Amino acid sequence: MNIVVQKFGGTSVRNLECQRQVMKKVLRPLRDGNKVVVVLSAMSGETNRLLDLAREWSSTPDPAETDTLVSTGEQVSCSLFAMLLKNQGIQARSVLGFQVPITTDGSHGRARIMDIDADKLKGLLEEYDVLVMAGFQGCSDCGRITTLGRGGSDTSAVALAAALEADLCEIYTDVPGVFTTDPNICSDARKLDRIVYDEMLEMASMGAKVLQIRSVEFAKKYNVTVHVRSTFSDEPGTIVTQEDENMEAALVSGIAYDRDQARVTLVHVIDKPGVSATIFGPLADKKILVDMIVQNPSKDGVTDMTFTVPRADLDQTVKILDKLKYEIGYEELRSDLNVAKITIIGVGMRSHSGVASRAFRALADENVNILMISTSEIKVTCLIDDKYTELAVRTLHKAFQLEEEQTIRE
Ligand code: ASP
Ligand code: MG
Repeated sequence: MNIVVQKFGGTSVRNLECQRQVMKKVLRPLRDGNKVVVVLSAMSGETNRLLDLAREWSSTPDPAETDTLVSTGEQVSCSLFAMLLKNQGIQARSVLGFQVPITTDGSHGRARIMDIDADKLKGLLEEYDVLVMAGFQGCSDCGRITTLGRGGSDTSAVALAAALEADLCEIYTDVPGVFTTDPNICSDARKLDRIVYDEMLEMASMGAKVLQIRSVEFAKKYNVTVHVRSTFSDEPGTIVTQEDENMEAALVSGIAYDRDQARVTLVHVIDKPGVSATIFGPLADKKILVDMIVQNPSKDGVTDMTFTVPRADLDQTVKILDKLKYEIGYEELRSDLNVAKITIIGVGMRSHSGVASRAFRALADENVNILMISTSEIKVTCLIDDKYTELAVRTLHKAFQLEEEQTIRE
């Protein structure tokens, strides 16, 4: 049995007209003799509407009831779409998470998929040609409905493709694919034909919201090739896949940015063993994601410690560090919200030097001051003043000639 998994996002299912468009996409693999598992999101805006209702009813909405509530968005789009298919004489039915079941852990609002009963689904596929499945939802061990976090239908689709060993996993959305950078700020941004999992994870963690990060982690773990493409065109999109040594890689694949950061500096920290643990331990305990960390060389036994945290966590960070002032032994805490992280991403960097220096030169030529730098095997990140974000993105896009297809030639 050849199985194709296709996922359609909220804008693709938002009304009858769009769902008719979706139907055309589903009919294609069906005509070629495949069984199709269609994973749907809620109609656009619906999940937000339901979350607003929960907040109206309660200032502390019960997490399990919230999941029962928000999961209805997907139930609506699935049942309606199954009706459309049946009108065309197609053997189709809707399937909800608990009916499979798609078993998750019990963390409501951000549940993780533990198991999918693939035999049950394969059994249903003997009987039906199309299963219209509710994305985003699962069912905990104790029989409660759970949801997988915002954008979670992507993860539902990839997980189903992995469990069913599908031949193809297509994620249909309202953009043509994954771009070299945000087309809203750089008109030269180019759609990528292909991107490897690790690059996509970096892009997604920097806020390129085409795919939920967890779906990419899942795809990487189970080696599911994902095709991200538009519902509203026939153009091929972007293939998200594993690294293939035989293929020529680009030196740099994309430039991502993140404006949701804040910088914290602890001035005149007493430089003694254990000081980093005293600072960062309590932040980690509160699940605050500290990203870039720089410690200056110490002078007369004191040093400055600078790091970044998500903007939303700044208040809590300051509170925690205030309490630890004497334990850490710092003089002053400074924080800055007007910073942005710009990241150059590319697996080609693993084997080629000079990316960082080219980036620094390009930014210098535009007079953009770099506040902090961090690097990994496949990325170089610069923290800059937020007001230069657009300029920096455009400058780096140009410096690495991302508007044209580039491959490394030995
Ligand atoms: N409907 C959910 C959300 O808006 C899940 C999804 O669309 O992927 O986050
Ligand atoms: Mg989405």
